[in-house]
Amino acid sequence: MKYCSHCRALVSFIVPEGDNRQRYVCDECEFIFYENPRIIAGTIPIFEGQVLLCKRAIEPRLGYWTLPAGFMENGETTQQAALRETYEEAYATPQLGALFSVCNLSKGNQVHLYYLAEMTVAEYGSGPESLEVELYNEADIPWHDLAFGTVTETLKRYFEDRKQGLMQLHHMDF
Ligand code: ZN
Repeated sequence: MKYCSHCRALVSFIVPEGDNRQRYVCDECEFIFYENPRIIAGTIPIFEGQVLLCKRAIEPRLGYWTLPAGFMENGETTQQAALRETYEEAYATPQLGALFSVCNLSKGNQVHLYYLAEMTVAEYGSGPESLEVELYNEADIPWHDLAFGTVTETLKRYFEDRKQGLMQLHHMDF
């Protein structure tokens, strides 16, 4: 950030009075621009034991497979964001279940949340951000072509939990 979006003056990266972190502060109007992590919400959509994956049509990681997920919008709950992203990327409308994974990307300033989701029908398709959308059995998951570490770890833990017959909430740090 270089200029204040309120008055167009230059900003400085300084520790404001009474604060303990550097922030962008306008040299003129003294507005403080707080930057906080972004929330990405998504689902683990399951139909008859298979998981629905999307092949990304956009960067980053174009051509790699991911669970449907995306940036939460203002005015949404995390559950609404997860379901909206699942529809936008995979045209699927699963029943949302429990929160399954909380992934802290403290270096990337993001938090990724994945909810369990049960598909009652095998209805899905490729949204504008997906090249392909497919149901995968555990044995066929393209582990080497997954887009993000959070997706790989979430899927690994999902299948481990399923074998043990016990779904629990996973907190992971990346
Ligand atoms: Zn300003």
